[in-house]
Order: sequence, then C-alpha cells, then structure tokens
Amino acid sequence: MIQFVIFMGKPGSGKGTQAQYFSKHGWIHLSTGDLFRRHLAEKTPLGKQVQEFVENGNLVPDELTFALVEDFLKSVDQNANIVFDGYPRSKRQAELLDSWSKKTGSKCLGAIEFCLSDESAMERLLNRYYCPVCGYVSNKPGFCVNDGTPLVKRIDDNVEVIQKRVRDYDSYGAELRAYYRNKGIYVAVDAGKEPEEISAFLERIMLKNGLR
Ligand code: ADP
Repeated sequence: MIQFVIFMGKPGSGKGTQAQYFSKHGWIHLSTGDLFRRHLAEKTPLGKQVQEFVENGNLVPDELTFALVEDFLKSVDQNANIVFDGYPRSKRQAELLDSWSKKTGSKCLGAIEFCLSDESAMERLLNRYYCPVCGYVSNKPGFCVNDGTPLVKRIDDNVEVIQKRVRDYDSYGAELRAYYRNKGIYVAVDAGKEPEEISAFLERIMLKNGLR
C-alpha cells in the first residue's frame, strides 16, 4: 500500500528542502514543479503544453497536472512512502488525489503546511539556486552537492512572478487548509525556523503518528 504525506506552503517556504531530507530516509519525493521543469528542459510534448503556465507562474490545469501525477504514481513501488511537494494546489486536485487513493487503497497520512511571511518568501526566492538535473536547492550559487551540475536561477524566480505565486497561494492555500482541517489531518509548521529544527519537528510528528 502506498502511504503519503502532503507538504503545502507558499513558494520559498522550504517544502522542497524538507522533502529532500525525507528522501534521504527512503521517502520518494514527488515535486510536480520539478517534473514540469524536466519536461520543459527535455522539450517533450507535455513540456510544450505547460511552458507558458510554468514560466508565468500560473497553475497548470488540474486534469493535466493530475495525469502527470498519476503516471508517476503508477511507476513507483506500490508499497512506497511518498512526500507530495506542490501537489495538490486546488480543491479539485485534492479530490482527484482522494479518488485515486480510494481506488488504489493508498493512504494519506497528513497534510503539513509550512507557514512563512510573504517578505521572507520573497527574500528566499530571490536568493534561490537550483540544480536543473536533480532539483537540489541552495541559497548560494555554485555546484550541486549531488551531481556537480552548475546551479541556476529559475526563470519564474523574479519579483513579478514571485509576487503572483505568493498571492495565488493565499487563495488556494486557504482552500486546501480548510479541506484537510475538515478531514482532521492538517498540521501547521513554522517555516521561519532553521531547516534542522523543522526536520526534527517533522520527525516527531511522523513518529507520533507511526509514520517512520
Ligand atoms: P513554487 O516555488 O512556486 O512552489 P514549484 O516548483 O512547486 O514552485 O512549481 C513551479 C510551477 O509548476 C508552478 O508555478 C506551476 O506553474 C506548476 N505547478 C507545479 N505544481 C502544480 C500543481 N499541483 N498544479 C498546477 N500547476 C503546478
């Protein structure tokens, strides 16, 4: 049975960093943003379809995004533990994931929101570098610690597009918060803390809920 945790939070809130940490402990890290960027870089038909959305910070349509997620889920070990990073981003996406979950007998263990001020998010994103090969993220330019690839800036990490992504999160984040609160599986984390402190907090939650 696949078991999964949802990481939600505005861009720059550190979901990806924590998901990378969990992937070192055997969790599969599913970042829809990374998957889309890979398609863009490889100029696949899907990449061409989503290019305008991703570069302008607009959400890719729900059904298209879910098709990508479903494909990914079919390809993994059916007993895996998965961290969802950046999915779902609408109530419709959450519902599609729920139906998939029911259909396949998978289980959502929790929805964790990384809470951060808009100012901190902006500051972090303007100083963010990423590895186009594996998705590794750093706040300094240089080379990827995993594969030595030169780190680059993301095309959508510019002031205008960041402001739009952060604003959009206010609306879809509220919708998702209500959705998962209603299911009784919502947990908030202070994303302004140091990454190690957040990992330790998440580990405690996971342990308490029998997730590790
Ligand atoms: P962010 O730093 O904004 O959290 P991501 O890497 O998660 O960035 O996503 C980058 C872009 O990929 C988004 O702005 C959007 O265009 C697209 N995207 C990623 N996940 C989704 C999703 N669940 N639904 C729709 N579009 C998505």
